[in-house]
Amino acid sequence: MLNLSDKLAIVTGGSRGIGAAIALKLAHAGADVVVNYTASSSKAEEVASTVRNLGRRAFVVQCDVSDESSVSRMFDAVAEEFGKSADILVNNAGITKDMLVNRMSLEDYKAVLDVNLAGAFLCSKYAIKTMMRARSGSIVNISSVVGFTGNAGQANYCSAKAGIIGLTKSLAHEYAKRGIRVNAVAPGFIASDMTNDLSDTIKDKLVSQIPLGSMGSPDDIANAVLFLASPLSSYVTGETVHVNGGLLMS
Ligand code: NAP
Repeated sequence: MLNLSDKLAIVTGGSRGIGAAIALKLAHAGADVVVNYTASSSKAEEVASTVRNLGRRAFVVQCDVSDESSVSRMFDAVAEEFGKSADILVNNAGITKDMLVNRMSLEDYKAVLDVNLAGAFLCSKYAIKTMMRARSGSIVNISSVVGFTGNAGQANYCSAKAGIIGLTKSLAHEYAKRGIRVNAVAPGFIASDMTNDLSDTIKDKLVSQIPLGSMGSPDDIANAVLFLASPLSSYVTGETVHVNGGLLMS
């Protein structure tokens, strides 16, 4: 059931951190992988090279997910390279621009929504066009625990990550009858470049609030994505899997 050997997966922001772990996890399960990035060309190539060493095909595409023409070009390039369209889309690309609201510019508020939320909307829109024809597909959107709790200094990011849940459920409603499942993973506090910049004091404070007692790894998130991307979750849609060491229990 975890054999994805005839599947093609697009992972946005697949060059680093959680996205790179997802790309490798899906490749380990047999999928060919499109590694998307914006700036880290060499890191994206490294991920692609590891995918190829696993015996799978890999294709690196530079694309800004917040730009519709760039997204359209990425989907065209993927179709040309593989002669087919993606079976799996993981909307993972994300940025932060943290600031308290009284000092946050509208530009920074919108920039975070554009990448984290509109980017997922745009990539889903282009993936769905072909998934509808195939009458199958799995989309996994990466949200965040703070999309559920809110977080001081992250009004833009929390708005986007909460929006991802509404987007996920709306897409799940719209395309269930076309055989397309849409789910989300909401990571907690995960070791990556995004959290590296935090001071040790803040990290220690955050970790002290996590019942399982440590930060998560990108692989913890990739495992949940693999489940949602695979037929093991064939009766799951519109759902969110929380992967946070117990940080959020409802
Ligand atoms: P990261 O290490 O900062 O990596 C971000 C990735 O997104 C990079 O591959 C980056 O590409 C890509 N990216 C950024 N802007 C993009 C754009 N406009 N178009 C295409 N790709 C773009 O972040 P991460 O920690 O792995 O986070 C991955 C996802 O998990 C994000 O959605 C994040 O919000 C979410 N998340 C993370 C945590 C955490 O604790 N780390 C917790 C909850 C949710 P380049 O390499 O080219 O810059």
